[in-house]
Amino acid sequence: MQRLARHPFPVQHLKPPPERAILPAMNEYDYIIVGAGSAGCVLANRLSASGQDRVLLLEAGGSDRSPLIQVPLGYGLTFSDPKYNWMYTTAPDPALDGRTSFWPRGKVLGGSSSLNAMVYMRGQHADYDEWRDAGNPGWGWSEVLPYFKKSEDHVFGANAHHGAGGELAVSDFADQVHPLCERFLKAGDALGYGRTSDFNGERKEGFGLWQMTIRKGVRASTSNAFLRPAMHRSNLTVLTHALVQRVLLQEREAVGVECVVKGVRQQFRCRKEVILSGGAINSPQLLQLSGVGDAQHLRAKGVPVVHHLPAVGQGLQDHLCVSYFFKSKVPTLNNTLGPWYGKVWAGMRYLFNRKGPLGMSVNQAGAFVRSREGLAQPNLHLYFNPISYTANTAPVGKRFQLQNPDPFPAFLISFNTCRPTSRGSVLIQSANPNDKPLITTHFLTTSHDRQDIVEGARMVRRIAATAPLADIVESEHLPGAQVQSEEAIFADFAKRGGSVYHASCTCAMGPMPETSVVDARLRVHGMRRLRVVDASVFPSVTSGNTNAPVIMVAEKAADMILADNA
Ligand SMILES: Cc1cc2nc3c(=O)[nH]c(=O)nc-3n(C[C@H](O)[C@H](O)[C@H](O)COP(=O)(O)OP(=O)(O)OC[C@H]3O[C@@H](n4cnc5c(N)ncnc54)[C@H](O)[C@@H]3O)c2cc1C
Repeated sequence: MQRLARHPFPVQHLKPPPERAILPAMNEYDYIIVGAGSAGCVLANRLSASGQDRVLLLEAGGSDRSPLIQVPLGYGLTFSDPKYNWMYTTAPDPALDGRTSFWPRGKVLGGSSSLNAMVYMRGQHADYDEWRDAGNPGWGWSEVLPYFKKSEDHVFGANAHHGAGGELAVSDFADQVHPLCERFLKAGDALGYGRTSDFNGERKEGFGLWQMTIRKGVRASTSNAFLRPAMHRSNLTVLTHALVQRVLLQEREAVGVECVVKGVRQQFRCRKEVILSGGAINSPQLLQLSGVGDAQHLRAKGVPVVHHLPAVGQGLQDHLCVSYFFKSKVPTLNNTLGPWYGKVWAGMRYLFNRKGPLGMSVNQAGAFVRSREGLAQPNLHLYFNPISYTANTAPVGKRFQLQNPDPFPAFLISFNTCRPTSRGSVLIQSANPNDKPLITTHFLTTSHDRQDIVEGARMVRRIAATAPLADIVESEHLPGAQVQSEEAIFADFAKRGGSVYHASCTCAMGPMPETSVVDARLRVHGMRRLRVVDASVFPSVTSGNTNAPVIMVAEKAADMILADNA
């Protein structure tokens, strides 16, 4: 028997889940949800809320009880910890000098929301209007806004843009961010970009501070926010260390899943629906393992074809980013979090009042800007970190280096293009569910994406050269002043650029089975009782970070699922 144990971390305001045996006597459920990530935890809460339906949530990873997950800055370590992380590696990409990239994904209750950087960002209105205009009725901005608000317990309270009293805490850290952030914001003022006090409110453009999914110094993962409050429900069963290996299909109807739970193979049957919420890498993998995908590819990999759906695993999008490192004349978070005594001070401060650098993200401020005339929307997403660290895409020893600040005062300004147009794929390499799929990124294959890279690099330097930020810049440490020409900027990007982990679009929503995987109600084309609900259903990646949009997708999906099964 498997148990979900008590939460050992002292999180006063979160009720610990009840201790109870969770292997069910009966293996038939109304809904089976695969994956307890950003989307899966929301679904588990909403679909079990009435008490009418028996809901099974299956998660390949384990408990999220570790302080590394609950303390916000712990993500510097879970970033490369296989205990909580799928640790994917992409295929070599010519645009990145033939390098592979490391792609962390959460493998734990809460999924990637348990190890992300906690920035809460919905993106631009136009992102969703484009989803709707691509043939997906119901997904325009005015239709999705109520679902963003539904989840929210927003620090600004309920208003036209925000919700209050919802499960997901969204906090503001204006009183806690590092003083260098103000210099960054003032440089934006001086350049005429203007400020916003709320990127998720009226003004989504300009310079500002990020809001974060943190409640009283503790990570507001979807596990903490949505799953934990629902754990006491007798109609909700959560199994951890449960790797779903295929969807059980009769003809083209989902009737359950086959799963290995702690080494024991089991089948679970569903009366209503199977919902895949395994994320942008695993959901397309699972569909393919189950015989739903491009028929030729499935046959080549030895998987019997149930339904030819060529778009499964295609269309992969992500935000590709590079950081510019600036040495600083004044102390930065490197001075605080580098030396052992600084770490002790930060630890004490956190233990004492849940505040300080450990209680929030190091990614504290940023901007959405247009880098050229004639753009209808911002095309660049900038990040300001009052710290510098090297997130190598190649392993150093057993780990990837994210956790160590540089041994000198410095800060980072990073950028990515908001709406990349390059698309890659996620395809199984064999019929073995334990083999990782092949992730092909095809980054920077369009002139649009390449133009943004050059303009982004020049924008970062313009900001760093503008007072009052310029006043404290000692020198550009990386890539260095010698990198000036377009060719040199690309060469540097190829050497150092990497993902900001917003993988999406691999089971895209759309009206045509030839080019999409799910319809506007997130039902897999040509199949019955099978949906996908996670980042993979985005028709195109949103302009900003992706956790809030995934939570919105799950909120809307829950309503559609309940309505369709009423
Ligand atoms: C390091 C990092 C930093 C990020 N920073 C931010 C940020 O600051 N702000 C932001 O908005 N977004 C951020 N993101 C992105 C954001 O967290 C993701 O887009 C979002 O969490 C994806 O949600 P999902 O439900 O699609 O997938 P996930 O949350 O990844 O959930 C998928 C779940 O399914 C489980 N699963 C998969 N396959 C199976 C299977 N076969 N059987 C059983 N279980 C399975 C997985 O273990 C996982 O728990 C970040 C992501 C990462 C990795």
